[in-house]
Amino acid sequence: MRRLVTCAALGVLVVIADVSGQQPVADLILSNGKIVTVDERFTIAQAMAVRGERIIAVGTNQDITRLAGPATQRIDLRGRTVIPGLIDNHMHLLRAAGTWTAELRWDGVYSRKQAIDMLRARAKAVGPGQWVFNIGGWATAQFADDPKPFTREELDRIAPDNPVALQESYYQVFLNSRGLEAFGIRQGALDPEDFLTGTVQRDAAGKPTGIIRGDIAATRPVAARLPKVPADQLEASAKMLVADMNRVGLTSFGVAGCNGEVLDIMKRWRMRNQLNVRLFCIGGAAAGSPADVDRSIETIAGMKLYDGDEYIDDVVFGESVYTPLHDRMFAVDSNYSADQLAQWRRMAMAIAQAGLPLHVHANLTDTIDQFLDQVEAVNRVYPVRNLRWALAHLNQVNASHLERMKKLGMYAAVHPWGVINGAIFHDSFGEAAANDLSPFDAIQKSGIAWGFGSDGSAANQYIPMTALHYAVTGKLAGGRKVIRQTISREDALIAYTRKNAYFVFREDDLGSIQRGKVADMVVLDRDYLTVPADEIKDIKPVQTFVSGRIVYNSEPVVGSR
Ligand SMILES: [Zn+2]
Repeated sequence: MRRLVTCAALGVLVVIADVSGQQPVADLILSNGKIVTVDERFTIAQAMAVRGERIIAVGTNQDITRLAGPATQRIDLRGRTVIPGLIDNHMHLLRAAGTWTAELRWDGVYSRKQAIDMLRARAKAVGPGQWVFNIGGWATAQFADDPKPFTREELDRIAPDNPVALQESYYQVFLNSRGLEAFGIRQGALDPEDFLTGTVQRDAAGKPTGIIRGDIAATRPVAARLPKVPADQLEASAKMLVADMNRVGLTSFGVAGCNGEVLDIMKRWRMRNQLNVRLFCIGGAAAGSPADVDRSIETIAGMKLYDGDEYIDDVVFGESVYTPLHDRMFAVDSNYSADQLAQWRRMAMAIAQAGLPLHVHANLTDTIDQFLDQVEAVNRVYPVRNLRWALAHLNQVNASHLERMKKLGMYAAVHPWGVINGAIFHDSFGEAAANDLSPFDAIQKSGIAWGFGSDGSAANQYIPMTALHYAVTGKLAGGRKVIRQTISREDALIAYTRKNAYFVFREDDLGSIQRGKVADMVVLDRDYLTVPADEIKDIKPVQTFVSGRIVYNSEPVVGSR
């Protein structure tokens, strides 16, 4: 492996010495492991030392042991692999808290049988008449044992006494009879007014099949009618959400939609040093109409960024600039008018003039081309090269887009919806197009600065190891190979760690296990670099650390004080 440097070659240990010139005593030492630092040379080390919130040394067991004092907590890794805390550069994290504990989440459930068992258990737990539901984050193709869709009759058998609504990504919703009844959808009756015409599927006799289908416009009215977490349970829901993120090794997020009550809750946790994830907000006032653009432009000039800290900060404008130009998930092409694009450009011009970074939703080939036309026009007036402007999602990005983006100094925030939607993409777009969603090899070879995000929790599942498995094998968790362009494990991991530190404007603090950075790291149950590729999705964190604090622990820490 070209980037591997043996421990012996690491050479002399360097630590931050305190003012007296003495070597500091570590608070925490992890040794006897395989520490995948993800530094610029992809160095592998044996041990690392932490003092306070930061890493003070990385090196050999011998070097690091010298930093131990009587009070140092020591963890014997017993050969285990450690990677940097994983960073998702785009997730709707705060929104997810609003339904998290109310939902039956299927992220990481790769057996249909298990999913059904969970559904049955949930129905029993919530009691007759109560909703059992989820809002995306899964697709039937993730089930290795049987990827077939659910039917109304099947769901009636599994949960006869509960209304059930299972939202498959943003593609469709499966309802049982009680679910249909709750929405007033029945044979001989008109569809509910808030449901888009034609999205309620019916058989030849007009009987509703239980399926609501038609992209986000079809699924949104269903989700809107489902119960939210009650106000007095919101904090507990947010806490469970954060715990679930830590359980899969996530420690930092670019947060799309970053406001509201959940943000306030997390700010309170931050004050008490109890916030176990870092939130880097993607925000700002998008415009919905030409009149709105005038208003938004006024606020852009006064937008303040970087006024937070390494836990919560406002970092970038996004994810929408002009909301009428928002690609839908399963749309084949976009048809945006010159007038609409001119409004988009006015917004972008103001953002560039204010010297702000940008992170904007762009998915379809035509949209990416048209947005780049606008950015090139803006760039002639206000150069964007050093502003870290990023296009986000980019499932349909191609080599020519990447070249144009690179010339502009833009970044690619890659959110492979195919991790769960790969099979649906084959049905919707045809094999030739679907095979390159996302074109990882072209992205990697272009040399553009790029990083991974999930765009969870509805459009995609959130588990990084499942996404890394997809990028490395081209396969869905259920085993079906759906894309042909794959990348190396090293490049995939870099895109989930060090490269993403740039997307959250914290490259000095995050993204690699290096002296001076915060001690965010994940101990894995098996070695990401050598496990058979098909098993990458099954890798589980044993411990997750944020700023040197253990925020997730699957087993008692082995070690001594
Ligand atoms: Zn988006």
